[in-house]
Amino acid sequence: MNARHDSPSSPGSLLQHIWGYPAFRGRQREVIDHVLGGHDALVLMPTGGGKSLCFQIPALLREGLGVVVSPLIALMQDQVAALRELGIRAAFLNSTLDAQTAREVQQQARRGELDLLYMAPERLLSESGLSLLDGCRIALFAIDEAHCVSQWGHDFRPEYGQLAMLRERWPQVPRVALTATADVPTRHEIVQRLLRDGTEFVSSFDRPNIRYRVVEKRDGRAQLLQFIRGEHVGDCGVVYCLSRNTVEEVAQMLAGHGIAALPYHAGLPAAQRAAHLRRFLDEDGVVMVATIAFGMGIDKPDVRFVAHLDMPRSIEGYFQETGRAGRDGLPAQAWMAYGLSDVVQQRRLIELSEADDAYKRLSTSKLDAMLALAEAADCRRVRLLAYFDETSTSCGNCDNCLNPPELVDATESAQKLLSCIYRCRQTSGTSFAATHIIDVLRGKRSEKVERFSHQVLSTFGIGADLSEQDWRQLLRQLAAQHLLEVDAAHFNVLRLTDASREVLRGARRIHLKRQEPGAERKRRPAPATGTGTVGQALSAEDFALFEALRAWRSGVAKEHGVPAYVVFPDTALQAIALARPRSLEQLRGISGVGDKKRDSYGAALLALIAQASAHS
Ligand code: ADP
Ligand code: ZN
Repeated sequence: MNARHDSPSSPGSLLQHIWGYPAFRGRQREVIDHVLGGHDALVLMPTGGGKSLCFQIPALLREGLGVVVSPLIALMQDQVAALRELGIRAAFLNSTLDAQTAREVQQQARRGELDLLYMAPERLLSESGLSLLDGCRIALFAIDEAHCVSQWGHDFRPEYGQLAMLRERWPQVPRVALTATADVPTRHEIVQRLLRDGTEFVSSFDRPNIRYRVVEKRDGRAQLLQFIRGEHVGDCGVVYCLSRNTVEEVAQMLAGHGIAALPYHAGLPAAQRAAHLRRFLDEDGVVMVATIAFGMGIDKPDVRFVAHLDMPRSIEGYFQETGRAGRDGLPAQAWMAYGLSDVVQQRRLIELSEADDAYKRLSTSKLDAMLALAEAADCRRVRLLAYFDETSTSCGNCDNCLNPPELVDATESAQKLLSCIYRCRQTSGTSFAATHIIDVLRGKRSEKVERFSHQVLSTFGIGADLSEQDWRQLLRQLAAQHLLEVDAAHFNVLRLTDASREVLRGARRIHLKRQEPGAERKRRPAPATGTGTVGQALSAEDFALFEALRAWRSGVAKEHGVPAYVVFPDTALQAIALARPRSLEQLRGISGVGDKKRDSYGAALLALIAQASAHS
């Protein structure tokens, strides 16, 4: 079916009839009009912002084939499946296709039977790719993940540089470059290499539906389990760990507690990795425990949480990884357990790396910015956005906004801590690690204290007023700011630094955070059913219907060989469960139910709704 021909041709009516969405988001409409006018555009939107519509709608409305260049071969199949579910004539060409299928796709393109064709860059640039396009009328080129053109970026693809030729070969065809990577030099590089007039459409990078939370790491794994069991039962999520070993152990631990968790890292056999990815994409409620090898281009819209058991090494990394949560706009959480070990581990990794000094300095300053975010007592979103040059005000949806910590001046305690480190070293000629220093401060006569006779020191017992936890918090804060050093090469012993003197002199104030435990949880409305994110937003009856819809959806998805979200995203099922439409006409008003889906699935949906309503 050609979607173009049976709907009035305006962007708004396509949005409504094909996608079933009532309104454009952010700058979508502006971009669409600009491209429809035959102009080039650079589109910068955060993950989940809705970049795809910015080229899909103009491709449907302009004469000819929309060519989409993407480096993410693994995603093309699902993207095309999603478009076909909407009744759009889409196909892809990449190395995963057999020769016969590829030939068929090429013929369809030549005959003008396709609206959108997804191609890997190397395929497009090949002799056969170019001659295929020479034989087609082209509506536009969309260049997805356009930051791959940047030689300085971490996703650099040499073929992307060669895409500059599109401009010479098809000067009349508009190009849309899209990315979620924010920095200004990369933007310039994209425009310079790929576009002509290159109007930039920059959206805010804020992801308001993501709640940012950082908890003090005590027993990270136990805390993670409690977090998932308490707030994300049955939800899809990603857990990031630094090492492959941890990934395996944590996946096993979660699975042992009945959570559908799977490991993912570069050390697993390719077939197993692919199978785990498939299950994550296709099934509901899978938790992927992974190293950062997992991520680029994870398109799943209903990831309800991203948890970090180890801190990322930069704010860019943190933003990118947490950004994989909540693409569908429903509430999602970015949760991180953070402790002194993160400071020590990440500093150590920089030290041990073989990079040159300039790179190490850059890495250190990026790490310091990340540490400041983790230590922050004020709005985390304000800090996050400020890092990307965006100013904002307190968000009301991060841990510090929801449960503002009380700050207690702890400068004197910090001085005691530093003096104690100094005294112990001076008396015994050797340095000590945190546990011992805290024992001395709190006046605990441990075996080691007696062995070194530290009970006679003037600093013995001067810190009994603070708990061990407080001392650790203080220590971590000082380490994060280079006010003391943890020597990871020597049993994590503590040493003073040049900057320690600033604290000892009283030139630098230090604060302890006091947060009422659990206060943030108490503020939320009591969940209707005690289950995951959607359950918390629905009444028990509506949630039962939602579950029935989900079960039906997974059957359809299996039958069609597509991920569940391709049939309907959670947002649509939730809206259906709430509105309980009784007719096809009423179904039309549900966001995410376009004409084709109503034709295909409307009857089944109405039957499920009738059944549920009869029971309740
Ligand atoms: P991006 O590529 O920017 O990460 P997508 O294009 O995949 O984002 O869109 C993210 C989600 O938002 C998709 O599920 C998409 O269907 C949905 N979406 C996009 N535009 C709208 C809109 N105007 N109204 C409602 N949902 C939208
Ligand atoms: Zn906030």
